Amino acid sequence: MTLSTPLKIAPATLAKLAKIGIHHRADLLLHLPLRYEDETHLTPIGQALPGETVQVQGEVTHCEVMFRPRRTLVCRIRQGDDELTLRFLNFYPSQQKQLAVGKTIRAIGEVRGGFFGLEMVHPKCKSVDDDTPLPQSLSPVYPTTAGLSQTVLRKLISNALESIPLTDTLPAPVLERLELADFGDSLRLLHNPTPDISARTLEARSHSAWRRIKFDELLAQQLSMRVHHRERSKRIAPALPAHNKLTQALLDKLPFQLTSAQQKVWREIAHDLTQSHPMQRLLLGDVGSGKTIVAALAALQAIENGYQVAFMAPTEILAEQHYLKLHEWLTPLGIEPVWLSGSLKKKAKTEAAARIASGDTLLAIGTHALFQKDVEFNNLGLAIIDEQHKFGVQQRLALRNKGTEPHQLMMSATPIPRTLAMSYYADLDVSVIDELPPGRTPIVTKLVSDARREEVFERVRQACLAGRQAYWVCPLIDESEALQLQTALETHATLTEIFPELRIGLAHGKLSSDEKAATMAAFKTGELQLLVATTVIEVGVDVPNASLMVIDHAERMGLAQLHQLRGRVGRGAAESMCVLLFQQPLSELARERLRVIYENTDGFVIAQQDLQLRGPGELLGARQSGVAMLRFADISEDEELLETSRAIADELLRDHPEAARAHLKRWMANKHDFLQV
Ligand code: ADP
Ligand code: MG
Repeated sequence: MTLSTPLKIAPATLAKLAKIGIHHRADLLLHLPLRYEDETHLTPIGQALPGETVQVQGEVTHCEVMFRPRRTLVCRIRQGDDELTLRFLNFYPSQQKQLAVGKTIRAIGEVRGGFFGLEMVHPKCKSVDDDTPLPQSLSPVYPTTAGLSQTVLRKLISNALESIPLTDTLPAPVLERLELADFGDSLRLLHNPTPDISARTLEARSHSAWRRIKFDELLAQQLSMRVHHRERSKRIAPALPAHNKLTQALLDKLPFQLTSAQQKVWREIAHDLTQSHPMQRLLLGDVGSGKTIVAALAALQAIENGYQVAFMAPTEILAEQHYLKLHEWLTPLGIEPVWLSGSLKKKAKTEAAARIASGDTLLAIGTHALFQKDVEFNNLGLAIIDEQHKFGVQQRLALRNKGTEPHQLMMSATPIPRTLAMSYYADLDVSVIDELPPGRTPIVTKLVSDARREEVFERVRQACLAGRQAYWVCPLIDESEALQLQTALETHATLTEIFPELRIGLAHGKLSSDEKAATMAAFKTGELQLLVATTVIEVGVDVPNASLMVIDHAERMGLAQLHQLRGRVGRGAAESMCVLLFQQPLSELARERLRVIYENTDGFVIAQQDLQLRGPGELLGARQSGVAMLRFADISEDEELLETSRAIADELLRDHPEAARAHLKRWMANKHDFLQV
């Protein structure tokens, strides 16, 4: 660790620094203030108002430790005729000394009305003389952790600023063309703003210094993604040429023709598989766009070459649907998939694992269980991962590490907005299915207040009695799985009472996989008319005769989830409807979400709106845990900078490779592990 030179830092402090992501001395430079405190002027005590954060100055007139209701240091300061109480619940003897009667102190904090008049709780204090000058500029407030004071951080940071050369990594012509501020100037300014800059401009991050830092961060992200992409092309994967035997046989047997969008993505994937470096392709397509058949074709191309395929889905229900579908499609071609899930009996699991290890089976379908340590593939050539954003990066890695490196096909029905695709997913190749198979009728969406529940019951009854089928999705209860289950059971009981004439099933996460499979099969064959379900049906259920979806307490669900659920209907020729039952009053966010889902059917538009409503964190799902998140830039606000950084990344790698290297080193020193994923 280079951190100990030239300042000596105690090991305990080093540990705390590590906690906030500072491992090298250079990391201190990029540890930028969260906000700024204005200590440049004083507010007379008599003018301080409750609710405001102000700096005051006064003479200590009283200081004592009280023991009731709990140990508290209480202190009064006076300025002219006005007084203010200061309270400290945790305090050190040194503080007590600092606040001795007769001393003059400055205190910064939020003023509130207390029992003894105005007071500040835990103000930041320092003792001064009457004529101690006020600071000329704003004081930075850094993100920190318990036991690491702002003073210590500031000292370490100023030392780093003085002793580390702040060389600009960008070539001068580039800087000039982009009208970007100098790196060193920007950093110095953000750590020590000059008096002419207001706290507001700095906190809004619109100042040219912030613009420079954000650009640098985005550029580093782009560079690392590109480097990763290049490295991948140096790694070895089995080349899987297209023999078009099994794939053609499957296409010949299908009752439908691929849409032209499906044909296009299939060509892209088929081509990638012929390469001797690993494919990492994301197949994006809205709910119901027909990704599964494309995945099946990819699997067959690997199998034709004698390689194994792993096909994974995040939930048992979804994995099971894939298993049934592929079983139906591939068994006639002489390929028998093997099933592996966590809920299999130990013996069955061991058997499945043995068939996978011996190479006896060429296609394994299942859940996370396929990732487990005791599952070793004989010669894995292709891993297909459905709903990839639900898996952690670590798990994907675990699978890849099994044999030689397999090709990876990731699928997602959560469309990625353009800006996300350009930043966090820039290391993947992306194929998009942008049309739905023909013969689908558009889904009508209705927003219905819970007060009109009765009318919804009537609609369900009519749909089922007319020979169609319906889903009733139970309210989502985030806090407790037990409560979620209880709600599902109650909803089922209530609906059974309301509809004595209907055959009603119940699907929830706590059913055994046999029970779940039996229920889903009964719904599929039409034996059950109404399926009461928790959000376990969010993905993968495919019952074309189901034409009505009721989502109870829709206001609790996220946009992506609502969109996925709605996609369960509208799969057949009958006119379909999705009823969003909501409970009032609605929060601002819930109202906005319901408006978006009501007005839009295009998953990409919905995802874009979702990004604006929530920011990228949640959309990224599990991926965020592994990918270095942006600290300063915000892709929904800094789209123009993001675009520029992409172009400059290409330019640097082409014309100034040493600048690219220096830039990555500055920004990515700690994050290299993640970039390997
Ligand atoms: P998703 O992309 O949501 O995974 P699926 O692969 O489950 O969609 O496909 C939805 C339904 O559409 C399935 O019943 C599938 O067999 C059917 N399907 C897929 N492609 C076509 C096509 N080209 N023409 C008609 N139906 C298709
Ligand atoms: Mg699917």
